[in-house]
Amino acid sequence: MIRLPMRPGVIHKSARDLPVPAHLADWAATCASFSWPQVRGELAGTEAGVLNIAQLAVDRHAQGPHAHRTALRFLGAGAAVSDVDFAELKSLTDRFANALAALGVGAGDRVFVLAGRVPALYVAVLGALKHGSVVTPLFSAFGPEPIATRVNIGGARVLVTTEALYRRKIEKMRASMPSLQQVILIGEGDAETRVPGTLDYAKLMREAPAQPPVIRTGPADMALLHFTSGTTGTPKGAIHVHEAVLTHFATGRYALDLHDDDVFWCTADPGWVTGTSYGIVAPLLHGVTSIVDEAEFDAERWYRILQEQRVSVWYTAPTAIRMLMKAGPELARKYSFPQLRFVASVGEPLNPEAVWWGQEVLGRPIHDNWWQTETGGIMIANTPAMDIKPGSMGKPLPGVQALIVRRPEGGGVQVVDTPDTEGELALRVGWPSMFRGYLGQEERYRKCFAGDLYLTGDLAKRDADGYFWFVGRADDVIKSAGHLIGPFEVESALMEHPAVAEAGVIGKPDPVVGEVVKAFVSLKKGFEPNEALNLELLGHARKRLGAAVAPKEIAFLPTLPRTRSGKIMRRLLKARELGLPEGDTSTLEGGA
Ligand code: AMP
Repeated sequence: MIRLPMRPGVIHKSARDLPVPAHLADWAATCASFSWPQVRGELAGTEAGVLNIAQLAVDRHAQGPHAHRTALRFLGAGAAVSDVDFAELKSLTDRFANALAALGVGAGDRVFVLAGRVPALYVAVLGALKHGSVVTPLFSAFGPEPIATRVNIGGARVLVTTEALYRRKIEKMRASMPSLQQVILIGEGDAETRVPGTLDYAKLMREAPAQPPVIRTGPADMALLHFTSGTTGTPKGAIHVHEAVLTHFATGRYALDLHDDDVFWCTADPGWVTGTSYGIVAPLLHGVTSIVDEAEFDAERWYRILQEQRVSVWYTAPTAIRMLMKAGPELARKYSFPQLRFVASVGEPLNPEAVWWGQEVLGRPIHDNWWQTETGGIMIANTPAMDIKPGSMGKPLPGVQALIVRRPEGGGVQVVDTPDTEGELALRVGWPSMFRGYLGQEERYRKCFAGDLYLTGDLAKRDADGYFWFVGRADDVIKSAGHLIGPFEVESALMEHPAVAEAGVIGKPDPVVGEVVKAFVSLKKGFEPNEALNLELLGHARKRLGAAVAPKEIAFLPTLPRTRSGKIMRRLLKARELGLPEGDTSTLEGGA
C-alpha cells in the first residue's frame, strides 16, 4: 500500500523564514492604511492629467538610476540570449510610437499584436501604448477564425505579426477584416516586398524619428482591449484604461513581492491578460529584470532557466506546475534554486498537492492567487508573509474588497456572511484596473454588476479566517491549460462542417491541464458516425480554431439534450459524461 504523506492544513510562515522582508508583512494593517490615491501619488511625476502605462513602465526608469539595468532578457528558442535595458527600451518604444504616428494611426486606434514572445512584440505593445493607441494582444496559437472574430469585434486598424503567422492565419481571411488598414510584419529581411499589402517592422523602425513622442493619454483613456469568453455569443472585448497601471504596480508589490534587484519570470504568454499585466507591465513598473522565454514548455529547460537566470520571483500556472510534477522530482534535483524567493500561480485551481510539491522540490511553497481578464490584475492572493492554506486562493489584497453573495430567485443580491458557505464571488467596485466595458456590448457589461458589486461568475467560499476557496464557475466556460474557452465559439466552428447538425461542448476534467475541450455532435441525415469522420471533424476544428481552442475529443450522439426553449444543455452533457446526477431536468425537451 502506498503511504500518503500526512500534511497539515496550513503552512505557517514566520518573518524569520523570509530571505527579505515582505512588502505585505502585516496584511490587516496594510489593508487598513492603504489607499489608491496614495499609489497614484507614488507613481506621479508626469504632467497633471497625463497617465500612461508605457511611460511609467519604461520612460520613468530610462531617465533614472535603472537606465542601464536589463529590463527584458529574451531567451530565444535556441540558445540565443538578448538583453534590452530600460534606456534602449525607451528609444525602441519611442520609435515605434513615432512609426505609428507616421502611418497616420490616431489616438484610440486599435493596434493588435499576434506573435510569439519575441522582442518586437514587447516593443510594439509598449510603443503603441505610448502613442495612445489601444492594444489587443492575440494568442499566437489561435486559428484563423478566433483571430478574425476578434479583429472584427475590436475594429483593429493595425496588426503587428510575423510573416509566418500572417501567411498561415491571416492572408486568406484578410478580405474579411475590413477595418485592418496596416499589417506590420516582424521578420527577417524585407518582408513587405515578399508579402503584398504589408509593411516591414524593421524598415518602419529605421525610418521612424527618434525623438520622444509627446504623451497625451489620461487615466481614463482606453489602453488595452483584452478578449475573454462567455458561455454564449461572441467573445467579449474587456476595456481597460491607463489607470489600471496603479493595480499593476500595487499588486507587483503586494502579491508578487517584487523588490528592486529581483529577477522575475512570468511564464504566461502575452496573448492572455496575465502575460500582459505581469509578463510586461508590472515587472517593468518595478524596474526589475524580466525573463522572457520564446520556447514552449519543456521541464528540463524550465528548471535550467530558473537556475541559470537566478530567477528570484516566479509567476506561473497550475498546468505548468502539474507538468513539472509529472516530469518527476529526480529531474528537479539535478538543479538548484537558491535565489528563488517567491513562487506564485494563477489561472486555474491549484491543487494542495502542487503547493506542497513546491515546498518539497523547489524549496518554496506555491502561492495561489486569483483574478480574471475583467479585473485587470490580481485581486486575491496568498502573499509571502501570510500562512498558506493549501487549496485556498488567499485573501483580498489591500484596496480590494471581496464578498460572497447569492442571487435569490426574486432578483437582487444578498451578501453571505456565514463562513464556509458557497456563493458567487463579488468585488466592490473601485479598484483602478476594473474593466470599463465590453466593447459594443453595454447590456452584457451592465449584467455583471449589482449596485456597487461586480459579480465575477465564479463560485467560492470564504472561511472564518477570511481565506477564499474556489468552488467552480457559475457558467459553462472551459479552462484548459489556463486558457478560458467559450463553448459557443467551438460549437459554431463545428457547426460549419457539412456533416454536423448540432454541437455541444464541455470541459472534461483532466489531471494535467484542468479541463480538456470535449465536443458532442449529432450528424445530419446521410452521415454516419465513424472513426474517419471523427478525425475529419477534429482536423476541421483544429484548422479553424487553432490548437489552443479546438476540441481534443469528439463523441457522436443521435441527438443532443435541449431545453424546451431549444438551448443545448451542456450541464447535462457534462453530468452524463462524468456519471454524475443529472440534477434538475424539468426544462429538458421531452423530459420530466
Ligand atoms: P481569465 O479571464 O482568462 O484570466 O480567466 C479567469 C478565470 O480563471 C476566473 O474567473 C476563474 O474561473 C479562473 N481562475 C483564475 N485564477 C484562479 C485560481 N487561482 N483558482 C481557481 N480558478 C481561477
